[in-house]
Amino acid sequence: MKLTRSEFIKLGVLTAAGIAGLPGLNLRAQGSSSQKTVIVLGGGISGLYSAYLLGKTGIKVKLLEATDRLGGRIRTVADTSGNFLDLGAEWIQSDHRTARSLIRELGLKTNEFEVQSDLFFGSYQKAGTWDISSKSQEILNKLVQMNSKINSAQQQELDRISFYNFLLYQGMTSEDLAILNFKYSLYYGDSLRSLSAQKVLSDLVNFPKYNTRLEGGMESLAKALVFSLENTETSFADPVLSVSQGEGKVTVTTASGKKLEGNACISTLPANQLTSIQWDPELDKEKKLSALRIRYSRIYKTFLMLREAPWNRDNYSAYSDSAAGFVYDAGTKPNSEDKILGMISTGDRFDVLAAATDAMKVEYIRLALERLGQKKDLQVLRIQSSETSYSKYLPSGIATFPPGSYGSIISLLKPMDRIFFAGEHTAELNGTVEGALTSAIRAVNQV
Ligand SMILES: Cc1cc2nc3c(=O)[nH]c(=O)nc-3n(C[C@H](O)[C@H](O)[C@H](O)COP(=O)(O)OP(=O)(O)OC[C@H]3O[C@@H](n4cnc5c(N)ncnc54)[C@H](O)[C@@H]3O)c2cc1C
Repeated sequence: MKLTRSEFIKLGVLTAAGIAGLPGLNLRAQGSSSQKTVIVLGGGISGLYSAYLLGKTGIKVKLLEATDRLGGRIRTVADTSGNFLDLGAEWIQSDHRTARSLIRELGLKTNEFEVQSDLFFGSYQKAGTWDISSKSQEILNKLVQMNSKINSAQQQELDRISFYNFLLYQGMTSEDLAILNFKYSLYYGDSLRSLSAQKVLSDLVNFPKYNTRLEGGMESLAKALVFSLENTETSFADPVLSVSQGEGKVTVTTASGKKLEGNACISTLPANQLTSIQWDPELDKEKKLSALRIRYSRIYKTFLMLREAPWNRDNYSAYSDSAAGFVYDAGTKPNSEDKILGMISTGDRFDVLAAATDAMKVEYIRLALERLGQKKDLQVLRIQSSETSYSKYLPSGIATFPPGSYGSIISLLKPMDRIFFAGEHTAELNGTVEGALTSAIRAVNQV
């Protein structure tokens, strides 16, 4: 079946078979043998954007992906109701420059999504009424300012302490800390107890305000990039095992025994993969230690397709102290008969949800809604949850930085001769689609 660009973005799949049917897409690299070849490791959004940028300049690209699909931590499932379920990344910030201009360049559309959440934490509190106290807010603002002014030796000291303990020491009440934990653990996928005080204070200067969704789900960005790839040869379901360089070339070996040669290589592999690959020469000590220090958080998503919405206002969302964590109207289309309820559970709650049967997940969500005063009987039509089958290659959350990880991003992005590094874990705005895209631009400019 031949699909047009817009049909592909709507219906196409990012697997080898799905891509092979595309009209006009050349998956075989073309050009003279004198052309430069760059091998890109990893077919997530960072690898795809690297391939897109390189291919446009006439460079031959060999894109290697371990799993049987492209997109990595971006994955959208189309529901039969016409709604799109983002099992991975779902929101961007409307003024994130790189994502915004790429979305425009690829002709994609966005929808605004304003987050105003209710909270059940001991008692029910309405959206807009549960911010932390003005005293705690003042402490937080002062610390963010202080962190931007201290020198790197002082930052390194601060990095040894967890954000949670530091705020407690600075006089923030444990009630306000618990509220901050609700708020920020949704983004980090981890508790503030396990994150470096210095890293979180730096993040807070420019903290992502997710307020925009892509029409057709986040995967439409990955699909539009795949549709626009030039000079790119893609290999699926074949993990990279070793990377060596010498005599002006880079050689990459995959699990199936393929040996690929290039003039340079961009690795967008998650940090936890770096240490399972054989590098020759070896990864420098700092890079290796940084890769080992990073901790991948855990974010579990479940979507219920419901006959009737349990919420009674637009863009409904709420935090609760139940296992379900965060529940929200997952962008139900205005004309959709079925309503889509999303749920995001982070940190240790990930394990609870990942091990639960569908019936148990529904029960956890029912309990959360009950606490939030939404007692409507849930008529569940369908359920869709995070997939964990590729967890070896695909982190279930984002790169987070525990105490003691100061300087890790700098070491991780440092090139090794002809090998350049990208991926969200190497970005200033790490953990975001924006960060993954900007890291690709940086690596491509270094090639
Ligand atoms: C559940 C969830 C929700 C999120 N929500 C948001 C959100 O709302 N907004 C936002 O901006 N960000 C969000 N993020 C973060 C965002 O998804 C990531 O920052 C971004 O997608 C990372 O892209 P990447 O290309 O750097 O990494 P990845 O997407 O992880 O790509 C790396 C690729 O490398 C491949 N790979 C791994 N090992 C090998 C190997 N040995 N050989 C070959 N290939 C290999 C992997 O299979 C993968 O395809 C979310 C993440 C998760 C998990």
